[in-house]
Amino acid sequence: MASINFAAAQHALVPDETVLECLERNGHEIPFSCRTGVCLSCMMRLRCGTPPRASLDGLRQGQIEQGYFLPCVCRPEETGEDLEIEAPTDAELFGRAVVSELAPLSAAVCRLRLRTSVPLFYHAGQFINLRRGDGLMRAYSLASVPRLDDTLELHIKRLGGGKMSNWIHEELEPGTALDIQGPNGECYYIGGEAARPLLLIGNGTGLAPLYGIARDALAHGHTGQIHLFHGSRTAKGLYYRDELNALAQAHENFHYTACLSGEEAEARAANGAREGRAEAVALAEHDKLAGWGIYLCGYPPMVKTAKKLAFLAGAELANILADPYEMQDLRRLPRD
Ligand SMILES: Cc1cc2nc3c(=O)[nH]c(=O)nc-3n(C[C@H](O)[C@H](O)[C@H](O)COP(=O)(O)OP(=O)(O)OC[C@H]3O[C@@H](n4cnc5c(N)ncnc54)[C@H](O)[C@@H]3O)c2cc1C
Repeated sequence: MASINFAAAQHALVPDETVLECLERNGHEIPFSCRTGVCLSCMMRLRCGTPPRASLDGLRQGQIEQGYFLPCVCRPEETGEDLEIEAPTDAELFGRAVVSELAPLSAAVCRLRLRTSVPLFYHAGQFINLRRGDGLMRAYSLASVPRLDDTLELHIKRLGGGKMSNWIHEELEPGTALDIQGPNGECYYIGGEAARPLLLIGNGTGLAPLYGIARDALAHGHTGQIHLFHGSRTAKGLYYRDELNALAQAHENFHYTACLSGEEAEARAANGAREGRAEAVALAEHDKLAGWGIYLCGYPPMVKTAKKLAFLAGAELANILADPYEMQDLRRLPRD
């Protein structure tokens, strides 16, 4: 069985164990969040050895070349090779950002604006990891567009019992400095195909990256049709409606559809929303997607279903970009 060498100690892995699990079992405190290789909170670096391919997926080529890998999805038994690893220093991964604004967008969602000390080079739709003073770290998507906005914009949904989201909603104040890591992810507007139709589907705060991607595409002079579907169970979960309607007014190729899956017909009509989940409404309306660019963000089961439906409707897998909001310890509760 393979082993790992970390902090001058050798640890043997047990069958099917990840590097993260092995380190935790041996008393090391490694920051983590999603544990599924999506959020990059636990990123570590190799000093020696070759990690399994799965632990490199989701990293940029430059990060791979510097030896980074994701311990939460790294099972060394797949290669049988021992690994010597180290934790990156703060200076290597983190920058500083100061809270410049906190504003409610709905009962459960707030907007957090951050000003960085040095410019962050990112694409709208990517995500960053926010770390507070005690080391708690979570991923949040960027709704801002570098060429349009001079602050980073995040939309944070408060979750029952959620440590970071409640802290942001209740305690965080303008002027507070936070550590940020990123940008991460590949769910962003790709230029060079200005006439390509785009389908953007998100639920909850999955709207954040889609709002950024849509504005980025329009700012790049995208001429193809852009259809954004935002889903929520209840009307109070639909936010940024004025902003999205204004975008549709200003650009004839941008179309916004609100979808409600849990409201009665009257409430839907009052909100000008369509009935059903965003992915179902979107795919019923657009069922021939060969050559389209597809963007899917938010609740992981929605992203999974929408990806399958888009593929069945003819979208090429390489043109389907997705950011599932993987969270710790998903509760079996209805979403709003
Ligand atoms: C790539 C990526 C991008 C993300 N972008 C965003 C974003 O833009 N905005 C955003 O708000 N979040 C986003 N997230 C999720 C975010 O990282 C956190 O997981 C989230 O804010 C919860 O953190 P927390 O510390 O508040 O909750 P935690 O303390 O981590 O715990 C989550 C708690 O909420 C419960 N819970 C989980 N899911 C639900 C649910 N659907 N309804 C009710 N309770 C639930 C869990 O059981 C647990 O009690 C993203 C995640 C990823 C991986």
